[in-house]
Amino acid sequence: MNWLEYGERVRAGGALTRDEALAVLRSSDDELLGVLQAAFLVRRAHFGRNVNLHILRNAQSGSCGENCAFCSQSAVSAAGIERYPLQSVEEIVAGAVEAQRLGAVKYCVVTSGRAPAEETLETFCEVARRVRKQTSLHLCVSPGLLTEAQAQALARAGVHRVNHNLETSRRYFPTICDTHTYDDRVATVRVVKAAGMEVCCGGILGLGESLEDRVDLAFALRALEVDSIPVNFFNPRPGTPLAERPKLGAMEGLRGLALFRLVNPARDLRAAGGREACLGALQPLAMFAANSIFSNGYLTTPGQGRSADAVMLEEAGFRPAQLEM
Ligand code: SF4
Repeated sequence: MNWLEYGERVRAGGALTRDEALAVLRSSDDELLGVLQAAFLVRRAHFGRNVNLHILRNAQSGSCGENCAFCSQSAVSAAGIERYPLQSVEEIVAGAVEAQRLGAVKYCVVTSGRAPAEETLETFCEVARRVRKQTSLHLCVSPGLLTEAQAQALARAGVHRVNHNLETSRRYFPTICDTHTYDDRVATVRVVKAAGMEVCCGGILGLGESLEDRVDLAFALRALEVDSIPVNFFNPRPGTPLAERPKLGAMEGLRGLALFRLVNPARDLRAAGGREACLGALQPLAMFAANSIFSNGYLTTPGQGRSADAVMLEEAGFRPAQLEM
């Protein structure tokens, strides 16, 4: 297969067909560098060798009433995670100041739960106002399903971006969650866009979905014109219904990233949760497709740390993107 032609075509403004996208995922391990080179042509055209660092904060952990099978914070999880109620505005804003000190361009505040309570929404709005005053960071919030009025309130307060993942394909979604629907998630993406905020929306590879499901997710995100795409690599959490599933292999994860880049060429594509656990020694190769990472850990699991990320990026010839002041 002439993978370079795929990269050159997408870089020039063309698109892959579904069959071509599937061929990327079906390519052999021997072809991995060719596939990544195609993705890199596109990545470099849009982002050079810059990497956006995002720092996550889990501002309310555990005790969610939903049943997402992969999630250690769900109602059906017995995972031994720390559970705590909503943190104060002061605590969350202090995290933003620290994120800026660590070189992040985005501060991503997440709360567990199906949808935000009134108190949570007010907290997010106050955090947004203070983060704008005290830092140059862009704030991204992940409060769950939103109504039109809630999205408009967040936008008025100055929230830059809202995260709400589709997680997987429309076909496979009911297998991993049946307390809300894929269409509920799409509706939230639409109200966020309508309110004028950016959308961060991605999914998890390795939940048991087929390669066709991964292609469906990549094309669904393209059709929704989301701004940012976190690609998570499935790393089973003890105590969850998917605890016995194997974690995603490194080469499979990298082929997935290449696919998302080739289908969504100009989007902020993130090598997200499970990066260290699943990609292992191949982590730096992810940067040839993705242009952003979560640095400094995830919601309920640690990462390799900001210093190790800095060394990895430098040794692979990439550099953290700078904040626009
Ligand atoms: S809605 Fe969010 S916090 Fe709740 S179980 Fe699903 S992924 Fe976890």
